[in-house]
Amino acid sequence: AIQPQRKPDWLRVRLPVGKEYAHVRGLVDEHKLHTICESGNCPNMGECWGAGTATFMILGNICTRSCSFCAVATGRPLAVDTDEPNRVANSVKLMQVKHCVITSVDRDDIKDGGSIIWAETINAIRRESPDTTLETLLPDFRGIWDNLERVLETRPEVVSHNLETVRRLTREVRIQAKYDRSLEALKRTSATGLRTKSGIMLGLGEREEDVLEAMDDLLEAGVHILTLGQYLQPTRNHHPVVDWIHPDQFASYKEWGLKKGFRYVESGPLVRSSYHAEKHLFEM
Ligand code: SF4
Ligand code: SF4
Repeated sequence: AIQPQRKPDWLRVRLPVGKEYAHVRGLVDEHKLHTICESGNCPNMGECWGAGTATFMILGNICTRSCSFCAVATGRPLAVDTDEPNRVANSVKLMQVKHCVITSVDRDDIKDGGSIIWAETINAIRRESPDTTLETLLPDFRGIWDNLERVLETRPEVVSHNLETVRRLTREVRIQAKYDRSLEALKRTSATGLRTKSGIMLGLGEREEDVLEAMDDLLEAGVHILTLGQYLQPTRNHHPVVDWIHPDQFASYKEWGLKKGFRYVESGPLVRSSYHAEKHLFEM
């Protein structure tokens, strides 16, 4: 294995280029819009924005959870901002986003888990940009399934919930989450007939057989779309990178995944949950 301190060449950040990207970049700067693509300094901005895809985070930027891989601040979140759905819908419209990915922090502090703002945001985007397709990267709502259903009722084109890691590492990586509860959330989503998606980060110390087991579990839960990407440590206080997974290994996982029965698999070092998100809308 490669020394964890040294990032391998295949993870070098790509410089965002292209006419479409420059256009969106201009709109974002002009209107001071806020995206996760930018605040997370995502290496795929050139490609995604060029393809009309962008990711927005709602319900504030402080999370009630403290997953060991995640750069989002933990603590007591601010009060819910009821104007947020309109603001996000306005950004989507200004940026002319074709495929909009929405995610949120976990709001275990409020009764509805944030599901009311979630549903209002989706409805506001539908109202302002009726041709924009929506992908929602949802929390597990602590297993309060009424809250999940409230969001599913808005019928986003794709619903994802990330398993993030394999069963064996879940406790270490996502202390307040549960592997089986995540599977249950996915199962309930898939049962409503919506396109269902999940993602796993690799390089946290999982073994090949762990990944294959996770694939089987996700298929069993009815998941159609799988993303696999390299975990990168946001700061030295976060979970260390245990392995740099070679691009060939990502390619094998993709092959296995498709053979096992996923309809679409995006697997590679720079793959993020929303990477090429617009593609599987048409390819499945
Ligand atoms: Fe934005 Fe996701 Fe694309 Fe990164 S992968 S640029 S966060 S849409
Ligand atoms: Fe980060 Fe989500 Fe975990 Fe919160 S629940 S710490 S936002 S990964």
